[in-house]
Formats: sequence, structure tokens, C-alpha cells
Amino acid sequence: MRIGLIDVDSHNFPNLCLMKLSAYHKAQGHQVMWWNPLFYFDVVYKSRVFTDTYSKDKITVTNAGTVIKGGTGYGPGPDLPDAIEHTYPDYSLYPQYSETAYGFLSRGCPRGCGFCIVGGKEGRRSRKVADLSEFWRGQREIKLMDANLLACPDHESLLLQLADSRALVDFSQGLDIRLITPDNVALLNRVRTKAVHFAWDNPNEDLTGYFQRFVEMTAIKNFRNRRVYVLTNYGSTHEQDLYRVETLRRMGFDPFVMIYEKPTAPPITRCLQQWVNNKRVFHVVENFYDFEPVKKLRNSSMETR
Ligand code: SF4
Repeated sequence: MRIGLIDVDSHNFPNLCLMKLSAYHKAQGHQVMWWNPLFYFDVVYKSRVFTDTYSKDKITVTNAGTVIKGGTGYGPGPDLPDAIEHTYPDYSLYPQYSETAYGFLSRGCPRGCGFCIVGGKEGRRSRKVADLSEFWRGQREIKLMDANLLACPDHESLLLQLADSRALVDFSQGLDIRLITPDNVALLNRVRTKAVHFAWDNPNEDLTGYFQRFVEMTAIKNFRNRRVYVLTNYGSTHEQDLYRVETLRRMGFDPFVMIYEKPTAPPITRCLQQWVNNKRVFHVVENFYDFEPVKKLRNSSMETR
């Protein structure tokens, strides 16, 4: 069989699903290659991460027996069968990423945030799905894709596996600040981390105490990066957005503004993102309302009144 693969949109990130499909089919003796319109394919897999807001699927496949579409960009669908899901990924598809191991130790999250697909896709309970040895073969870096590792009942033993690897670990989806405890902080301190980041998404939930506790527990620890993602344009007011940004900065965290459905975001939210995420500006201009684009915005809205 000849298998064709299409990575519709994840160009700056290796597509884990396609890497697993490739490994699985190669193990069956099938020929696997990136799809192109010049050959006939028995099966073509199209994988898409982002929805219509951020990317369009403009690829029409007419040279295949079967076309299988999957990924969050196409909406809910079945998971990969276990035999494929637990296959070691084929990094030859993305040789530029072969020094990093990508994978999941756990799946699912109990939080059920309204804007997030994880609960519907992976379930409202975090559970262990793999040991590190399933997808790590001595690479220098590990990029974990787990939605909420600390919510997994087995997270301490999984953190130990990460610590023992001595690889540089990136908790790419962040850690849940509400689930930090003295025990798991002690384990986290043993993991070689590239970055530790959190999120403060819900403006109606005051997480100040949790962040403060984290600062106290890690006061003498060397976390080089304490980034916190702040979700905006999802039911929050500008004042609530600014409050979270300023509170985090005061506590020694590095806020980073995320905009939900950016095309619909009000100009003031875009200004907030520009101010916060451009770190040179953020450190020099202390007060948001002294930021030049904000002054212009206020002047132009006064002129139109
Ligand atoms: S805590 Fe994170 S992973 Fe869990 S539902 Fe909320 S946004 Fe999604």
C-alpha cells in the first residue's frame, strides 16, 4: 500500500499523529510519503490542528482510494487506535525535530474550561497513558504535551521519570498552579526544566494566593522562567485583564497575553497584548496608559465622540 500524509497546518511543530501513523504503516511494510498530486495513494491522511479562524484547508485530494481526516481543526473525531497511539513516532518526517522527544504521559483534564477542547476530546479526568520510555529514547529535550499533568493521580512517579532522564523538559501546555504542593514542587525542582509556565485564564477566579504560595515555596529555587498565560477576549473586561497582568508582574511572574479569537478582539485588548508581550516595552513602560498606541487609541476615540 502507498500511504500519503498531509500536515495541513502545523508547520512550526511536528505533527505527532502523522509521525505515529507513519511509523505504524512502515512497520506493516507500507510505503509512506508526503502526499503529492502526481501519484496514486491507497490511503491519504490529512491532519489539521487549527480551526477555520486560524487556518484554512485548501487541499483537495482526488488521487486516493481513501482520504481520512483527523485532528482538532476538523472537530471531534475518534482517537487513534491503541496500536498506533502507543507507537514510537517516526521522526524521519521532521528531521529538524529529532533531538526532541514529543509525547503525552497523561491525558485529560478535570477543569472543563469553556474555551478548551481537552475535556471533550480527552475526558474530564486526568489519567496516565504512558511511561516516558514509550516516547523518549535519550533525546536531549522532552516536549510534554499533557494538558494537566499535575491532575493525574500518578503525576509524582511521572515527574520522577522526567527527573531521572536528565533531559531538558518543556511542559509545553503549562502546569496547573492550583495543584502545586510542597511534594510536587520538590519533584519539579529535580526536573531539568527549560521553562515553567502557568495560566490564569478565568478572570472571576482569583489565583493570587496560589501564585503567592508558589513564590514562597520556590523562593530559593532556580526557576528561570515563570511565565503565566493570561487569556483575554473570552468574557473578561479590560479592567480584569489589566488586573491579572499587573498582579502577576508585582509577584515576580512574567505575564503573556493570549487573545481568544483574535479577529474579534477590541483594540484595547490588542494594545494590551502588544504592551505585555513585547518584553522590552513592558519593562520600560511601567503604566499601560503611558504606552504610545494606547494614548493614540484614547485620543482617536475622544475625537470621534
Ligand atoms: S485547565 Fe487547561 S487543559 Fe484543563 S480545561 Fe482548562 S484550559 Fe483546558
